[in-house]
Amino acid sequence: MLAFMKVLQPKTVEEAYELAVKNKTAPMLAGGCWLRLGRRTWPAVIDMASLDLCYVREENNEFVIGAMATQGDVERFEPLQQFCGGAIVKGVKEILGIQFRNTATMGGSVASRFGFSDIIPALMAVHADIVTFKG
Ligand SMILES: Cc1cc2nc3c(=O)[nH]c(=O)nc-3n(C[C@H](O)[C@H](O)[C@H](O)COP(=O)(O)OP(=O)(O)OC[C@H]3O[C@@H](n4cnc5c(N)ncnc54)[C@H](O)[C@@H]3O)c2cc1C
Repeated sequence: MLAFMKVLQPKTVEEAYELAVKNKTAPMLAGGCWLRLGRRTWPAVIDMASLDLCYVREENNEFVIGAMATQGDVERFEPLQQFCGGAIVKGVKEILGIQFRNTATMGGSVASRFGFSDIIPALMAVHADIVTFKG
């Protein structure tokens, strides 16, 4: 179960970064699918829901996926179906069920770097760039 004492709700990525620096034990809360498995009660969590990072779009000949886009958003994004034989779509579509994929985020999968993160080899195969704030 996901348990916390306080939820911090930044409105910008910069603000989220500053909160993360000040609250070193507070995890960034994305889809919460992994975080909720723990038994710990966090003193605070940093909710990323208002950071405007939930998008998948095509611009200037590239695909841009926001950290808060869900695996389901990517799975359904029409222009990605044919890109590189659908490698990115195939990377997410076998992960658990539809409800799960509609909650788990792309950023959460990349940041967690689990040995079983199916999306990471797919992103590497298409030479995706990962953009992080201040590294
Ligand atoms: C039961 C179960 C089975 C799973 N099976 C698979 C599988 O078969 N294949 C697969 O690929 N994946 C699998 N996953 C992992 C899943 O796809 C996601 O990677 C995972 O749920 C994390 O995404 P989230 O949005 O839920 O992140 P959260 O649970 O919210 O966060 C996870 C961690 O990442 C950090 N984080 C999240 N977003 C960011 C960000 N933008 N910047 C910095 N840090 C961030 C959080 O602070 C936290 O430490 C499974 C997960 C669960 C719970």
